[in-house]
Amino acid sequence: MWTNSEDKSLRERAEAVIPGGMYGHQSVRLLPDDYPQFFERASGAYLWDADGNKYIDYMCGYGPNLFGYGHEGIDAAYIAQLKKGDTMTGPSGLMVELAEQMTSMVSHADWAMFCKNGTDATTMALMIARNFTRKKTIVLAKGAYHGAAPWCTPLKNGTTPNDRANQIFYTYNDVESLEAAVKEAGDDLAAIFAAPIKHDTFIDQEDPTPEYARRARELCDEAGALLVVDDVRAGFRLARDSSWSRVGVKPDLSSWGKAIANGHPISALLGAEKARNAGATIYATGSYWFSAAPMAAAIETMKLIRETDYLERTQALGQRLRKGLDEAANRNGFALRQTGPAELPLIMFNDDPGLSKGYAWNQALMKRGVYFHPWHNMFICAAMTEADIDHTLDVADEAFRVVRDAGPLPPVEKLAILGILADDN
Ligand SMILES: *Cc1c(COP(=O)(O)O)cnc(C)c1O
Repeated sequence: MWTNSEDKSLRERAEAVIPGGMYGHQSVRLLPDDYPQFFERASGAYLWDADGNKYIDYMCGYGPNLFGYGHEGIDAAYIAQLKKGDTMTGPSGLMVELAEQMTSMVSHADWAMFCKNGTDATTMALMIARNFTRKKTIVLAKGAYHGAAPWCTPLKNGTTPNDRANQIFYTYNDVESLEAAVKEAGDDLAAIFAAPIKHDTFIDQEDPTPEYARRARELCDEAGALLVVDDVRAGFRLARDSSWSRVGVKPDLSSWGKAIANGHPISALLGAEKARNAGATIYATGSYWFSAAPMAAAIETMKLIRETDYLERTQALGQRLRKGLDEAANRNGFALRQTGPAELPLIMFNDDPGLSKGYAWNQALMKRGVYFHPWHNMFICAAMTEADIDHTLDVADEAFRVVRDAGPLPPVEKLAILGILADDN
């Protein structure tokens, strides 16, 4: 029996001592009602909320969980280093080893810098591009997420127009709009930022077209600007190299985070030779950026990335889920839009402008032990099994029947109030 009394009581206490009860992407405010806010443990592909309800977790911590929560080998490396020394007066030699490994795996990269969060890495990319070119303007895709610093946070409260000065936007995969943005930058272009795939919230996901990716490369070369691919979310989930190795385009800088240490806190900026000096001459640091234990975990994660079939596995599991969900939807009279690579799926309903079908379906899944997300891309991890996918499909079938029996539903009120409901889908 699914219950949520502990979650409710924690939420009430949180209201008193945490602004808004919770903030950022960890707030469940915009998820279907009753989504748990607090969790007590996680293991492999599973997650237990504060009330002890168990879920197959298709959010994977919003990306960090690639090989399974609490992976034994990765955590053993982490714990052993933690006991030897973690946050010290200087880095351990593991920093050099991790830099050697990542630059040998990622074909565009000749050097690495480490930090804590994805935002640290994207912000360093911005600074290095401006330092390299001595120019100001960056060209970015509209709606792409690059972190929560004043220059890029999606909600403008607390930022000034100056924080976002010298930014010009284009439409992902639209070569003409990219060219127009670069033209507008004139002789002031420092960088083009690109997400490895279009993985924006609330809308269909898209792979980059080779024409778009190649044109971005050419435009940077013509202007002497740097091409930045933000691989914080998708990195090593689509390839054992930069995600744009899939389209044969090498960026100058790439930002990494989330999965690179399977949940231990570390992120990275990788760069090409030509940007080395620009990287060496910005001031960048953080109290925890040089901690050794997450580096030990990252080294173990890199080994698993090189030596296991995790990539083919997560792709095959994702395909199995996608195909089964389409069949279950059809059986129940629904049609889904499943977009993005199968291992990073986004699942929406056709004919669901108010997202009410999606919310009802996700809520029914959640109450039956499957944690899906109605408008953010999800993640397949290598700890999932075919049995997990097949169980998910059975539960999904039941959840489709719940939505079908509910009949027409009003648009999701909390999204309507916030003006979030997309009218172009
Ligand atoms: C999560 C994310 C970031 C920011 O990473 P944080 O660790 O949350 O600072 C940047 N870019 C992309 C594409 C992300 O998904």
